[in-house]
Amino acid sequence: MKQNRYNELNRKIKGIETYRKYDIDKPYIVAGPCSAESEAQLLTIASQLSESGNIEIFRAGIWKPRTGVNTFQGIGEKGLKWLKHVEKEIGLMVATEVASPDHVNICLQNDIKAVWIGSRTTVNPLLVQAIANSLKNHKEMIVLVKNPICPQLDLWIGAIERFINAGLVKIIAVHRGFHCYHQTRYRNQPFWEIPLELKKKFPKIPLICDPSHIAGRRVYVSEVATKALNCNMAGLMIEVHNNPQRALSDPQQQITPAALQKILRSHKTLPSVRRPLSNSSQLLSYYRSKIDNIDLELILLLSKRTRIIKKIGNIKKRKNLSAYQPDRFDDMIKMRELYAFKLEVNKSLVNDLFSMLQMYAIDEQI
Ligand code: PEP
Ligand code: MN
Repeated sequence: MKQNRYNELNRKIKGIETYRKYDIDKPYIVAGPCSAESEAQLLTIASQLSESGNIEIFRAGIWKPRTGVNTFQGIGEKGLKWLKHVEKEIGLMVATEVASPDHVNICLQNDIKAVWIGSRTTVNPLLVQAIANSLKNHKEMIVLVKNPICPQLDLWIGAIERFINAGLVKIIAVHRGFHCYHQTRYRNQPFWEIPLELKKKFPKIPLICDPSHIAGRRVYVSEVATKALNCNMAGLMIEVHNNPQRALSDPQQQITPAALQKILRSHKTLPSVRRPLSNSSQLLSYYRSKIDNIDLELILLLSKRTRIIKKIGNIKKRKNLSAYQPDRFDDMIKMRELYAFKLEVNKSLVNDLFSMLQMYAIDEQI
């Protein structure tokens, strides 16, 4: 798609400043439990969150797209009455996940003003289109579109485009990471370049990050949230529970309202990426040029490495050996992880990098 087309889509939506309650410079915060479990639970969390202020939307799932069949599948329609109660009692706008036109209709009957499209729905253009059609006459509904579960930018863009074409004017993109078969530090791989590319194409669509579903574990939520805000994302969609360990879904990744406050407070002390101080601009360009040089060196080394890989490939062919040699592969990764440890370089980075190089090396040798 050409940038002109993106510009046209950008023009059709409203700027977030027109529909947010708090200061545009503050992160846009969507917070609440993974799932609605009881009315008391929702009211407790919402009142704790509202005390800390700054929450634009209170979230709680009632229809849960759970992977496991025998797990809690969500409380269903009655949860909407509880959410409306939160809206009335605590004064927070509320949102839930919709995964079908039926869900949308039930939300509309209950006068819900914000919905989110989950990552397992964004992957399905027919379903997204059906949901967008059912929202056609409700242009003011806030629609949060999560990235698809697989790392495909076009699917995410396609889903956003379907909502814009249906006339919706308040759209928020949510980066929640991408499923990866291999076990990594996080539950879902962030692939930061994907949301940042989306932001380049749709500067008017607020991009927020869901650090809970990326991290998968409480201890990592803060670092992911901080990184997102440092990448200039507009805010966070974050799972908050009054008793996270006992949550009926995603207990490992939910944090308490107090922990959310701590993250938001620490953000205030971060250097702003939007307005680098003028006296540090020079230093910034100096370090950037250093990075450019280092990357150039890396590319030169990669070119050297590729030439040797090809030579090894020829020997393997002559000896009738397959390109992939599992023992050598494992030894190489282990050795590089050891170097990484000694040099205080992130072990997962080195593991990911060399696993990828090995996969490309196999392509070179067959
Ligand atoms: C959620 O936000 O509770 C959820 C199920 O999200 P995702 O679609 O990102 O997995
Ligand atoms: Mn969840």
